[in-house]
Amino acid sequence: QAKARGGAQIVAFSADIGRRERERGALIAEIPAGIERGEFRLHYQPILDLASGAVVKAEALVRWQHPRHGLILPGQFLPVAEQAMMVERIDDWVLSQVSRDLAQLRAGFGAGFAVSLNVSPLRLLAPESAARAAWCAQLVDCVAAGNELVLEITESALLSIDEAAAECLKALRAAGLRLALDDFGAGYSSLIYFLRHEFDYIKIDRALTAALPDPARAGAIIEALVGLTERLGCQVIAEGIETPAQLAALRAMGCGLGQGFYFARPMSLEALLASAGEGAGAGVGVKASL
Ligand code: C2E
Ligand code: MG
Ligand code: MG
Ligand code: MG
Repeated sequence: QAKARGGAQIVAFSADIGRRERERGALIAEIPAGIERGEFRLHYQPILDLASGAVVKAEALVRWQHPRHGLILPGQFLPVAEQAMMVERIDDWVLSQVSRDLAQLRAGFGAGFAVSLNVSPLRLLAPESAARAAWCAQLVDCVAAGNELVLEITESALLSIDEAAAECLKALRAAGLRLALDDFGAGYSSLIYFLRHEFDYIKIDRALTAALPDPARAGAIIEALVGLTERLGCQVIAEGIETPAQLAALRAMGCGLGQGFYFARPMSLEALLASAGEGAGAGVGVKASL
């Protein structure tokens, strides 16, 4: 009897997988049309100078406003898109949109305002690809026009890129693009990265921030990372700050920059611009906390 029930469960389970596979397939196929129809959106999450509370940068995060599924977060479509080699199209769209939004952001927050964008390792691979060359040229043009642009690459992405892609990153940095190592501390976190690549920013993964204010463990690790990055000539950005206690601990450890739901969730360009006039971080609810 138990066996029969188990069998039925397995049938139901695999039917469910089949349905989900079809849904995933349908979603991938819809990406190009979704971009064409203008369903992709950028939300911006403010990055603050933790000492002054000023909003000094913003991270661009992609979303898909799907006509049937509603607002879809990147975790739900980027991994699928990567399998289907569709993520490059998304990254290309993101760069075009960031290039367009930068003028307004610099007008609102000052000419030194930086935008950081995330890149898939696939966008950096395929050295023969004309599309990648066009993407690199667009980045260089954007920086040459006086914009502060930061490219965020995760440590797991760095593991998968080849020599040519690493050279490409180097050339982009030489052209004035800034590089950030994203989600540091969550993956393999090899210190060899710091020998092979030069970064301007190290982003501490929110799993470490979440463990604060535990001074014995998380505190020791983050304090060591702050010291290491200072010696290497780069800056630390703490991700995922959610509580005043985490903020206080990070400031005490000399962490210069941070972002997180405690300050603001990712928001539309309009919402971010609306907060610009309100003084240091007021519009994103940081003033009271500093
Ligand atoms: P990420 O680059 O590490 O971005 C930070 C993620 O953490 C964002 O999730 C953000 O909404 C979330 N977050 C920020 N503050 C907090 C907090 O205080 N608490 C918690 N729990 N979460 C917080 P999101 O927007 O869902 O993006 C997920 C990931 O998708 C990003 O992680 C990035 O790896 C990728 N991604 C986003 N946009 C793009 C893009 O345009 N291109 C590529 N290739 N990847 C992207
Ligand atoms: Mg990021
Ligand atoms: Mg991150
Ligand atoms: Mg992440």
